[in-house]
Amino acid sequence: MAPGEVFCIVGAGLAGGRAAAALRELGFEGRVVLVGEELDPPYERPPLSKAFLLGQLPRARLLLRPAAYYQEQGIELRLGARALEVKPLEHRLRLQDGSRLSYDRLLLATGSTARRLTVPGSDLDGVMTLRTVQESERLQALLEVRPQVLVAGAGFLGCELAAAARARGCEVRLVEFGPSAMPSMGPQVGEFVARLHRRHGVALEFQQEVTGFKGGQRVEAAVLADGRTVPCDLALVCVGATPNSELAQSAGLEMADGVLVDANCRSSDQDIFIAGDLASLWNPELGRRLRLEHWDSAQRQGPHAAAAMLGTHQPYAPLPYFWSEQYDAMIQQVGLLAPDQQVVVRQGPSDASFAAFHMRRGSVVACVAVNRYPDLAAARRLIASGAEVAAGALADPATDLRHLAAGLE
Ligand SMILES: Cc1cc2nc3c(=O)[nH]c(=O)nc-3n(C[C@H](O)[C@H](O)[C@H](O)COP(=O)(O)OP(=O)(O)OC[C@H]3O[C@@H](n4cnc5c(N)ncnc54)[C@H](O)[C@@H]3O)c2cc1C
Repeated sequence: MAPGEVFCIVGAGLAGGRAAAALRELGFEGRVVLVGEELDPPYERPPLSKAFLLGQLPRARLLLRPAAYYQEQGIELRLGARALEVKPLEHRLRLQDGSRLSYDRLLLATGSTARRLTVPGSDLDGVMTLRTVQESERLQALLEVRPQVLVAGAGFLGCELAAAARARGCEVRLVEFGPSAMPSMGPQVGEFVARLHRRHGVALEFQQEVTGFKGGQRVEAAVLADGRTVPCDLALVCVGATPNSELAQSAGLEMADGVLVDANCRSSDQDIFIAGDLASLWNPELGRRLRLEHWDSAQRQGPHAAAAMLGTHQPYAPLPYFWSEQYDAMIQQVGLLAPDQQVVVRQGPSDASFAAFHMRRGSVVACVAVNRYPDLAAARRLIASGAEVAAGALADPATDLRHLAAGLE
């Protein structure tokens, strides 16, 4: 790569921030411009619904790198700058302030936006979503006065916010449209999480829907599908996220759910790369596309895309990994679950810990663990080995899984 080249990254979040750093680490000497709509340098989002929200982590600790790092590395940070359009033929970006940026290679890492409910009253004060550090700060302040909280959606974020609100002493109602909590982690976790929240005093309702909010200026109640009106002075809408694909659309890139890229994060335009929540990546191991909205994939794809922008081609196929923290439960998953898998549960010393091994044709292909990190680590090794394992040995708490995994590698 010639030193005069310009690599632009749009989206100064996790994938974008990691990509910019990786370009320098990999020896790129040209211009690196990192364009971000938010005012903060790249930061971590997971603590926004956990330690930071609960006041246990200072703001500065959210940052991927100290602000000075970017200057030291000659990375041009353009914060508070929204990119509006990509013109691929001209290799140019148009920003909201009217300025234009030319690029040789471009990485789009624009993440996703929290979905809102399109029901009456959803624009009332006190009905909010959570994606940014400012929103987390606002929520932190609102929780101080112990409002009655309604959480719509019992996925990862909804469950974490319900737990945080309970930790702040709020009355919490958690309403979920589907039949279980966190369905992507399987029924064992769903049942565990439901029990956990009920034990902590959350009023949890499944197969229930919020059909509207009522109030003057501020929200005062939520209307549910069964006709009840339940009081609340804070409503947290956690019904998923939508990939920020407007720029990719403006560039005419191939898209489905997210932007279609090959295993090197390269889009249908050979000079435009995609990473993080926006990327629908070809996974050679699975033989299909995968778009994940999780920390681990974004932080890996940033550097992976950076290497590909520099011409290094290494197919990307790490095992998907993600986690959630609620109360004192650390819930982790490695690999992906599918209906055709056999599930073997290994109970921990208390009912607050277990691991569910998901198997296909006698081999472990995924694992979900609650407060069982060693089991998850062993599962990673078992998955990598592909070896057949006796279900009975996995389920038996007396089996040393580390030893078992080492013997099969
Ligand atoms: C509250 C919360 C808690 C989470 N907890 C977990 C967890 O416990 N475990 C887990 O695995 N994952 C978790 N995640 C998910 C994880 O944080 C995301 O998957 C990850 O941040 C995605 O990284 P990204 O770089 O793709 O997008 P982001 O980090 O969202 O960064 C995208 C950036 O692009 C900017 N942008 C968008 N459009 C433009 C534009 N046109 N011009 C300029 N800038 C633009 C955005 O403002 C944003 O700053 C959590 C997410 C949230 C919101």
